[in-house]
Amino acid sequence: PASDSDSSTHKDKTAIHYSGSPSGPTPDTNEDKGLFKTILDSNPYFSAGFGLMAVGAGLTILRKGTTTGASILHRQLLVTLEIPSKDKSYLWFLHWMSSQARRQGGASSTIANQAKNTKWTDRLANKINQRSQFLAVQTEFKQHDNGSVSTRFNLVPGNGKHLIRYNGAWIQVERTRDAKMMDLSTGAPWETVTLTTLSRDRQVFTELLQEAQRMALANQEGKTVIYTSWGPEWRPFGPPRKRRLLSSVILDDGIGERIVGDVQEFVRNEKWYADRGIPYRRGYLMYGPPGSGKTSFIQALAGELEYNICILNLSERGLTNDRLNHLLTNLPERSIMLLEDIDAAFAKREKTQEGGLLNALDGVASSEGRIIFMTTNHVELLDPALVRPGRVDLREYVGDATPTQIHRMFKRFYEKEDALAEKFVRLLQGQKVSTAALQGHFVHFKDRPQDACDQVGYLFMKDRVD
Ligand code: ADP
Repeated sequence: PASDSDSSTHKDKTAIHYSGSPSGPTPDTNEDKGLFKTILDSNPYFSAGFGLMAVGAGLTILRKGTTTGASILHRQLLVTLEIPSKDKSYLWFLHWMSSQARRQGGASSTIANQAKNTKWTDRLANKINQRSQFLAVQTEFKQHDNGSVSTRFNLVPGNGKHLIRYNGAWIQVERTRDAKMMDLSTGAPWETVTLTTLSRDRQVFTELLQEAQRMALANQEGKTVIYTSWGPEWRPFGPPRKRRLLSSVILDDGIGERIVGDVQEFVRNEKWYADRGIPYRRGYLMYGPPGSGKTSFIQALAGELEYNICILNLSERGLTNDRLNHLLTNLPERSIMLLEDIDAAFAKREKTQEGGLLNALDGVASSEGRIIFMTTNHVELLDPALVRPGRVDLREYVGDATPTQIHRMFKRFYEKEDALAEKFVRLLQGQKVSTAALQGHFVHFKDRPQDACDQVGYLFMKDRVD
């Protein structure tokens, strides 16, 4: 370490150089000092620069020291959790955060009143958040059973830093978007949320993620998630839907029971398949005219089994065999695969692609079992190879409304009207009418069973308004 006198000499020297008045070294001392030093000393600007350089270097070392110090401190005292946008918990976290914001925002007025009862730390967190929140909006559509749509705006943390307090710990939340990186499968920019907290509070990460997950799952409870293909992956399509009750879909006698029984038997028999080395999957085909309740039934069945539904549109452009294969082998857990209107899909796919689809379908098997449903309005157009056993194990015709169905549907809308139900059935004798059209009719004559009967002709009006 430099002594006081040393530093003062150094100071003096520097002062002299800066003053620009070198005394000019004597020739005899030149040899002792060496050429380099001589040049240095004889050139006031150079020396001044050197001095500055030294100070600069000193500072750099100091700064390096502090950064290293800081990073050591950081490492010792802080823990960081990174959640990339690709991870499932990413959306859970953003939702959780938006609910936190709502909770805090809603509570802010009461906080003012009960200031004394609130911890100063919580009040501070609120203050900081009120000031520095960068919010981004996430719009949520909710489709109600009657078809109307309501919109809710969720405020989620935007890009930048946020400070929150959770379970007594301070957490810095930083959301960043990488302009150069992209999630290749979706084309969305790559994003990351980084959470930082004090080491001693590290357990809050687990608590927080668990709470976020619980929230996400609670939102799905009792509901059916519909997935659609999005590039090579499955994405939820809209928010989870309320389960449809099986009893709300009225099929002709026996059809529903046969399918439900078969599926339940299949779900129970994993071991039976494994023991015999048979791929654990089962295919169902529901065919018949449009509006007969095929899709509705599959949706209700999924609800009954507590399964989700993956819908694949085979006519989608750019659905190569590779992508198809990838999608079919990477179905979300506990889901029914639904291929709608497969005749149209087959008509549009070329022969070579058709083979690819068949192969992909055969490949769909997993330990938890795959349930595949196909629907079509034109069974006669289907390639026999597609509907052979192993690909389609059970097929059911779902047709226009039969007298029993008409009766049951009438009673579903007008509970006690047995006599009118029978009259209505008689009025429709020999007529072709779909269950979807019946539903429209009864909705139109809501609570007016007599009118529904008297104006039965309304069912066949082409340009009626339901
Ligand atoms: P499909 O898939 O056979 O074309 P959908 O299931 O899409 O028919 O039915 C269209 C609409 O008609 C839905 O709103 C559904 O509720 C109603 N619907 C059709 N058939 C029935 C049925 N058998 N029971 C109850 N509702 C039905």
